[in-house]
Amino acid sequence: MARIVQKFGGTSVGDIARIRNVAKRVKAEIDQGNEVAVVVSAMSGVTNQLVAYCNEMAPLHDAREYDAIVATGEQVTSGLLAIALQEMGISARSWAGWQIPIITDDAHGKARIAEIKGDAIIASMKQGHVAVVAGFQGLGPDGRVSTLGRGGSDTTAVALAAAVKADRCDIYTDVDGVYTTDPRIVKTARKLNKITYEEMLESASLGAKVLQTRSVEMAMKHRVRVQVLSSFTDENAPPASALPGTLVCDEEEIVEKELVSGIAYSRDEAKVTLTGVSDRPGIAAGVFGPLSEANINVDMIVQNTSHDGTTDITFTCSRTELDRALKVLKDVKVECKEIATDKSVVKVSVIGVGMRSHAGVAQTMFKALADKGINIHVISTSEIKVSVLIGEEYTELALRALHTAYGLDAA
Ligand code: ADP
Ligand code: ASP
Ligand code: MG
Repeated sequence: MARIVQKFGGTSVGDIARIRNVAKRVKAEIDQGNEVAVVVSAMSGVTNQLVAYCNEMAPLHDAREYDAIVATGEQVTSGLLAIALQEMGISARSWAGWQIPIITDDAHGKARIAEIKGDAIIASMKQGHVAVVAGFQGLGPDGRVSTLGRGGSDTTAVALAAAVKADRCDIYTDVDGVYTTDPRIVKTARKLNKITYEEMLESASLGAKVLQTRSVEMAMKHRVRVQVLSSFTDENAPPASALPGTLVCDEEEIVEKELVSGIAYSRDEAKVTLTGVSDRPGIAAGVFGPLSEANINVDMIVQNTSHDGTTDITFTCSRTELDRALKVLKDVKVECKEIATDKSVVKVSVIGVGMRSHAGVAQTMFKALADKGINIHVISTSEIKVSVLIGEEYTELALRALHTAYGLDAA
């Protein structure tokens, strides 16, 4: 017997028929004698619609009300799946985040899980009941509903798996594993049987949305065995042990290590350039301090060498936070000639633990992009990745060219 947390993403619960299919997959694990808790996302498209309503009502809205609105999607699915399971003769009930409770911090809209009290779910599983948990939502210290940021149901699942000491956390989605790059864009992408926590963390934070970044952080910290699987592959809904997914695990478990394991991209990028900034101590702190106080994540930063005592500073932030970032810069009256923005950029990154011990990885990237005539706006590197910011119109061309340049194409 194993204790399993299963998570089903938006497309996996996209309509009533799919929710019934999910119920079959839950039953398949129960029939194996396993204890099961399930985490569900909102039905596909629902969260986007709810977010759009908030933006339409007011672009700079109250984040606590945003959470009250967008958290409803998951609640619908958890109730529907509980009914589907009951219809199959399985004892099940839905759980909202506040009922467990899943306690978060107060960063509404992108809250972090502070604690999950696993006792009630463990007791329920031990009695043979299936707990169907609404993903993505928690309870803030202000007593109000919070949400965990887009893709947050992955994090609910991994955190729950850690809290109930599950043997496995199975993440069901619309692709059958983690690929060398987004298989929807690069048809020659290869499925990986295993990927290290570190590489998955880097890929997720650089845009591979198959797992939310925080879910991987959480898995790495608590050593949760995460498997990524498709809920579409076999309509007979076999147990996960019969499906070929991707296991996210420790580096030691992987025998064949690749120099580059993947290529990720993120369209959620905006570039901000401050021109004519005076070149003296304290200026960068005056720009980035207020942004960080406003909880805006700044990613890449470049500052040019000065001429005439002034310089240019360019940075990137999330496209969704651009309006707020500009408001902060305006409010603190940043001294500069002009603030220019560009929303049509994409960040493309190559990732691999093998980079630690090999030179020339960045050069291969620059050459492959140059050969396609793609101009690089900003570059940033870390121990196991190289990222470039390029024009959004080149996304697909760049991904394909890099995939081939690093020898990742499937045979
Ligand atoms: P869910 O709704 O199940 O949470 P998501 O849409 O959040 O699913 O994540 C799955 C999607 O992630 C896939 O459809 C795929 O297009 C995308 N994706 C991006 N990069 C990768 C990758 N390296 N491997 C697999 N899928 C990826
Ligand atoms: N429904 C939320 C979203 O679309 C959370 C999730 O699916 O993981 O972002
Ligand atoms: Mg997702």
